[in-house]
Amino acid sequence: MKAKEQILTLKAYQPGKPIEEVKKELGLTSVIKLASNENPFGCAPAVKEAVMDELDRVSIYPDGYAAEIREKLSRHLGVQARQILFGNGSDEVVQMFCRTYLSPSTNTVMATPTFPQYRHNSVIEGAEIREIPLNGNGDHDLDEMYKAIDKDTKIVWLCTPNNPTGTYIPKDKLVSFLDCVPSDVIVACDEAYCEYVDAPDYPDTIELQREYPNLVVLRTFSKAFGLASLRIGYGVAHEDLIQVVDPVREPFNTSRVAQRAAITALDHLDYLKMCKARNREGMVLYEQFCDQHGLSYYPSQGNFILIDFKTKQGDEVFQYLLRQGYIVRSGNALGFPTCVRITVGSEEQNKGVIDSLTNLLVSKTVE
Ligand SMILES: *Cc1c(COP(=O)(O)O)cnc(C)c1O
Repeated sequence: MKAKEQILTLKAYQPGKPIEEVKKELGLTSVIKLASNENPFGCAPAVKEAVMDELDRVSIYPDGYAAEIREKLSRHLGVQARQILFGNGSDEVVQMFCRTYLSPSTNTVMATPTFPQYRHNSVIEGAEIREIPLNGNGDHDLDEMYKAIDKDTKIVWLCTPNNPTGTYIPKDKLVSFLDCVPSDVIVACDEAYCEYVDAPDYPDTIELQREYPNLVVLRTFSKAFGLASLRIGYGVAHEDLIQVVDPVREPFNTSRVAQRAAITALDHLDYLKMCKARNREGMVLYEQFCDQHGLSYYPSQGNFILIDFKTKQGDEVFQYLLRQGYIVRSGNALGFPTCVRITVGSEEQNKGVIDSLTNLLVSKTVE
């Protein structure tokens, strides 16, 4: 049996080590995962209650059209209900756009390093991948990305804030880019961390869609809303575009429980606000730590920070923190070999990580 050739070049997603496994292996009683940018405070308490209540109806298929959350989200965003496409996580929205627009005779443009799912799904469709390195500040090089576009380009991916750097594309730069890109090329802005952003020049992409009908916005309930395991994300675009992609969607791709949780999460935006504020406080702690120790880092608008240890490999810092009970993400796997990406956690978690890292750096100077 021979699989499609391009599939043979891919590896299955390598998840971080599960907490229970790390506990057993290292004989630790407490292990904290700060590797996947999940919300350290969990979802809002009311969401948990709504989920429990929905469990009474798990034997019944969900509403495939997701009418209730669709209505609620469309009011929240100020768009038409038909402009939204729900996915089993925004990962699936990426997949659906790739399935709809990419094929072997097409190409797609993205930054590198960036979120790996654009590349992964594009490879599966057999499209040519054009990866444009981030510039030295960790920003998308929009000039080079523009130059990479030709008549066969179908989708340009912009990840803002970018995973793993946390850097964002300011409004003026995005608008100049959109002004140049041909209108038959999709510009997909992945805004998985937009709820955490407080940069005043972060663009309102939903508003920009009125002027640029080729602009697609991807968002998720996984990160700031704390619903990663329930798998619900969405794309917002011109309704004609959504109608083209919608047939690719599996009939019941978001669960009843996920829909109910998302509806309830939108009723508790004060909780989101609290999470955002505490994330910002945590980010400041990490930035101060880096400044004190002369470590460089990318200015992050997300809930994670990519720190450069320069003389150490990411894997080494990762292993060290693992033994202290913290699972982070080594930069070796992310295209930044001397970095680690750390999810900003609760105050106690942040202080714990910073204490451990301080010990690591101090022991280095003594040697
Ligand atoms: C986490 C993440 C996603 C995926 O989110 P899901 O909705 O859980 O699939 C998408 N894009 C970026 C940049 C992410 O970091």
